[in-house]
Amino acid sequence: MTEATPGKVTMEKIVSLCQRRGFIFPSSEIYGGLSSLWDYGPLGVELKQNVKRAWWRAIVQQRDDMVGLDASILMHPKVWEASGHLESFSDPLVECKNCHLRWRADELAGSHCPSCGGEVTEPQMFNLMFKTFIGPVEEEANVVYLRPETAQGIFVNFQNVLNTSRKRLPFGIAQMGKAFRNEITTGKFIFRCREFEQMEIEYFVKPETADKWFDYWLTERRNWYISLGIKEQNLRLRPHTKEELAHYARKCCDIDYQFPMGWAELEGIANRGDYDLAQHAKYSGKNLTYHDEDTNENFVPYIIEPSAGVDRSVLAFLCDAYDEEIAEGELRAVLRLNLTLAPIKAAILPLSKKENLVKFAREIYADLRQCWMVLYDDTQSIGRRYRRQDEIGTPFCVTIDFQSLEDNQVTIRERDTMNQIRIPVAELKNTLTAKLAGEALFVLPPGGQIWKEGSKS
Ligand code: ATP
Repeated sequence: MTEATPGKVTMEKIVSLCQRRGFIFPSSEIYGGLSSLWDYGPLGVELKQNVKRAWWRAIVQQRDDMVGLDASILMHPKVWEASGHLESFSDPLVECKNCHLRWRADELAGSHCPSCGGEVTEPQMFNLMFKTFIGPVEEEANVVYLRPETAQGIFVNFQNVLNTSRKRLPFGIAQMGKAFRNEITTGKFIFRCREFEQMEIEYFVKPETADKWFDYWLTERRNWYISLGIKEQNLRLRPHTKEELAHYARKCCDIDYQFPMGWAELEGIANRGDYDLAQHAKYSGKNLTYHDEDTNENFVPYIIEPSAGVDRSVLAFLCDAYDEEIAEGELRAVLRLNLTLAPIKAAILPLSKKENLVKFAREIYADLRQCWMVLYDDTQSIGRRYRRQDEIGTPFCVTIDFQSLEDNQVTIRERDTMNQIRIPVAELKNTLTAKLAGEALFVLPPGGQIWKEGSKS
C-alpha cells in the first residue's frame, strides 16, 4: 500500500515521466545537455510520428483540396529579405545589470528582472534566425539561415505546385518539418525549443472569401485536437489585438491550450492577405498571380495559414492524457492517450518465463508486430507490468497464462477501464483491429466473460 494520493498534472510529473520512460531526453545529455534542445527517445519518437501522421492524414490524405510539400531547410537568403524576417523577426532583449541573465522585454512586468530583482538594460532587438555559411568561405556573401518557419518554402513553390498539380482556388499546400529559432526565453521543456517541428498549411483563396476560410480553418483545427482526445475545456480561441498583429497579418487567432503552467499558444491561424506572394513577386521578379479561368482575371490570392507546432502538440497530448487514480490501493499513473496516438498499441505479457509459455507468447508477438507497434515483456510481476504499460499509454495488454497452452485463449486487458476478457488466439488480431479502429470496447462474444483487473482469482 502507498500513501500517495492522486494529484493534478504538473510539468514536473510530465518531464519526469518523459525521461524515466524514454519519451524525451535533454539533447547531448552526457555532455550536460544543450539549452532548449531535446531528443525524442524510443517512445517519444513513436508518439511524435503518430501526431504527424494524424495531421497528414486529416490535412492531406483525406482532402482533395490539399497537397503536400517537403522543401529544404536552407533557402536563398533573399527569401528572408522578402518575408521580412531579416528586418523584423526579432524580440526585444534586455539584460539584468546585476546577474546578467537575459529576458524578453515584452515578458517582463517592469524594468527589473525576476531572478534577482536587478535593473535591466534598455531593450535591444535580437534576430532569432540562426546564421550559417554555404561553401568553405565564411563571408557575408555566403550567409544562409536555418529556416525559422516552414511557411516560406510553400510560398516560393506556389507556382510550381499550381502548374503541376492542376489545383484551382481554393486549395492548400501542407508541409511538416524542422524550424529553428534562437529563442531568448527558454526553459519550458518542449514548449519552446530552439529546434522544433512545425505542421503548416498555406491555404490559397480568393480575397473576398478570406474571412469565411479563416473561420473555417479555426473550427477545423480546433476540432482536430478534440478528435484526438484533447478536452474541450482545455482549449480556447484567443484573437489577436490590432497592436499584437504580426507585420504580415490582417487577422490572427491563436488556439491556446491550458498547459500546467497556464494558457499558451498551441497553434496560430492567420489571414496573411496577399503579403507573401506579393513580396516574393517583388523580390524575385516572377509573376506569382493566379489566373481565374471563370472570370479571366489575374490576381494575387490571399492566404489563410494554420500553423501548428509538433512538439507543443506532443506536450499538450501528454498533459491532457495524464491521469492518476487509486487502483487496488495503489497510485496508478495512466496516460489515457487516444488510440491513434499511443506509441505502443499492445503489450504481450507471458505470465512466466517458462520455455513453452515464452514460445507461445513470442509467436503471438511476432504475428502482431506485422500490424502494429507492439512490445514484449516477461520481467517483473504482472501487476507491475500492467502499471508500466498504463504509464506509457499502451491501450491493450495481452496476457498469456498456462491455461492458454491448453485452451488456446489469451486475456486482453484494457488500459482505461482495467477490464479484461478472454478470447481465442485465432480472434486476437481481428479483435485488436476492431478495438484500435475505435469500435466499442469489450463487446462480449457469446459466452464470453468480463471482469476487472485483480477481481478474478
Ligand atoms: P510564441 O509567441 O509562443 O513565440 P509564435 O507566435 O512565435 O509563438 P508562430 O510563429 O505563430 O509562433 O509559430 C507557429 C507555431 O509553431 C506555434 O503555434 C507553436 O506551436 C510552434 N512554435 C513556434 N515557436 C516554437 C518554439 N520555439 N518551440 C516549439 N514550438 C514553437
